[in-house]
Amino acid sequence: MGYETIVKDRGSLRVPPNLSDYPTQRSSFSWDAARAELDGLPGGRGLNIAHEAVDRHATGTLAGKLAIRWLGRKGDVVDLTFADLARLTNRFANALDGLGVGTGDRVFLLTGRIPELYVGVLGTLKHRSVACTLFAAFGPEPIRQRLDIGNGKVLVTTRRLYRQKVAAIRDALPELEHVVLVDGDGADADGAHDLRALLDGASDEYEIGPTGAEDLALLHFTSGTTGTPKGAMHVHEAVVAHHTTGKLALDLHPDDVFWCTADPGWVTGTSYGIVAPLTMGVTSIVDEGEFDAERWYGILGDQRVSVWYTAPTAIRMMMRVGTEVAREHELPDLRFIASVGEPLNPEAVQWGIDAFGLPIHDNWWQTETGGIMIANFPAMDVKPGSMGCALPGIEAAVLRRDEKGQVVLDGRGDAVVEPPMREGELALRPGWPSMLRGYLHARERYERCFRGGWYLTGDLAMRDDDGYFWFVGRADDVIKSAGHLIGPFEVESALMEHPAVAEVGVIGKPDPMAGEIVKAFVTLNRGFEWSEELQLELVGFGRKRLGAAVAPREIDVRDELPKTRSGKIMRRLLRARELGLPEGDLSTLESGA
Ligand code: ATP
Ligand code: MG
Repeated sequence: MGYETIVKDRGSLRVPPNLSDYPTQRSSFSWDAARAELDGLPGGRGLNIAHEAVDRHATGTLAGKLAIRWLGRKGDVVDLTFADLARLTNRFANALDGLGVGTGDRVFLLTGRIPELYVGVLGTLKHRSVACTLFAAFGPEPIRQRLDIGNGKVLVTTRRLYRQKVAAIRDALPELEHVVLVDGDGADADGAHDLRALLDGASDEYEIGPTGAEDLALLHFTSGTTGTPKGAMHVHEAVVAHHTTGKLALDLHPDDVFWCTADPGWVTGTSYGIVAPLTMGVTSIVDEGEFDAERWYGILGDQRVSVWYTAPTAIRMMMRVGTEVAREHELPDLRFIASVGEPLNPEAVQWGIDAFGLPIHDNWWQTETGGIMIANFPAMDVKPGSMGCALPGIEAAVLRRDEKGQVVLDGRGDAVVEPPMREGELALRPGWPSMLRGYLHARERYERCFRGGWYLTGDLAMRDDDGYFWFVGRADDVIKSAGHLIGPFEVESALMEHPAVAEVGVIGKPDPMAGEIVKAFVTLNRGFEWSEELQLELVGFGRKRLGAAVAPREIDVRDELPKTRSGKIMRRLLRARELGLPEGDLSTLESGA
């Protein structure tokens, strides 16, 4: 597979990893035992995410510990201890009571990454209403669509966002009873509430009511990479998986400073940008600003980040700025880097070693899974280009598909599992705590996710003899060319190795002879210009790496590739534009792409 396995010298791991012996810990793992690491509500009143994340620490020895350090766009800093968070979230929950919001009602937050967002999500969870975070960069229509599907009753937002995006759609949202402005001045239009006034008037004391593990807690919309976003429903029991995966896959230890760069508008920014580190009693960094390589290196160094969780797009942008820039920054505290959201090209794993002396650990999961399912763990050898192995407590498999893409069942109705090194549909055995409990108002769509005893992920993968999973592509993106099934990831990773190439998106283009041919769209690294020679060189480079059957026949350049707000290349859009087809749902498209 091109790259050598990165064999880690276990003796040199700076902190003994939480998952040090994968086979043993995997075979002895049980979700019941994992649940027992959490406290549960006092008096046996159930399991509540916010209690595990905040209150249990705020009433113990960690009360004065820094829970969240918020870095403002302009250099301002807000530090919140666990005790501060407990007090503010109590007030927020009391404020929801005061508004007459009930258990199970939906509270939407559209604010950007500001402290109120974190207080709002955790306060909502305490209150046992359902939190739904939206990207602040969404336009009015995506906001309306999600509030409508999600039956939003409360919207917490800012004056600017309200004016720019919500005011015009407010009449189309009859279920939206309360707008709460984090920077309201009491004189706002449309009867909006002023959050500061609500919090000032609320008590510091709040007792979380009985919370069933199956009570709805979080509503997350998928990224919309393959089509219209779906509203995945998650329950309070998910916290067992948030905690366990934070511990085992991200290797969080009490003294860590953790930075998850994802926005809470995307599931990663909630499961790991809010919940997991707090349940572990770990300090989290939150940056209000957008991606900027210099700023990011500054944060990693100044805040002494030890565990960093980011995404391939960000890593590729940092690669574009150059290894030298990375090396100029001393980052003695950084000990573990992980990535999620898109396939991580082997090139990027290797770049981590060149730039930071640390390989980047890819892991795989989805909005639907609520937490990390497959990961490269700190103590394990890294096979660049592989997503790693299934977490303890998670059974993952590659299922056989027929020509139509249906998972094949055996005589007993069980799905047929492929042997190692065969491509098929990546599937998970249902039953882990953070599994979605449904897509909101889309029961049939949810039921289609299950077949032959498995949850089907919609991704194609391969498992090797050592149990490592290799991403092939999304089922929707796979290309059928002259009898071959080609995964875009393999082609993209090969082209990424050319020095001129910064990013690649690959699609299948209909062809009368081959069925489909492979077409690649690239963006270029600094210092390179598009020319016919470069185009020919890239085509030749692809052929040499991949062979004529798999290599792209056509390669084109773009200034930017269309991406979702969570940074995923939208291949369906590259394809629709190439073929002049309808563009479909664009609600999550990054502006300008
Ligand atoms: P939609 O379901 O609306 O099309 P989406 O699938 O992109 O959007 P998310 O739930 O945010 O929405 O993303 C999960 C998907 O991202 C996975 O199913 C997979 O295709 C991709 N993904 C996540 N992590 C990885 C990874 N490490 N390697 C490869 N692909 C990944
Ligand atoms: Mg998906």
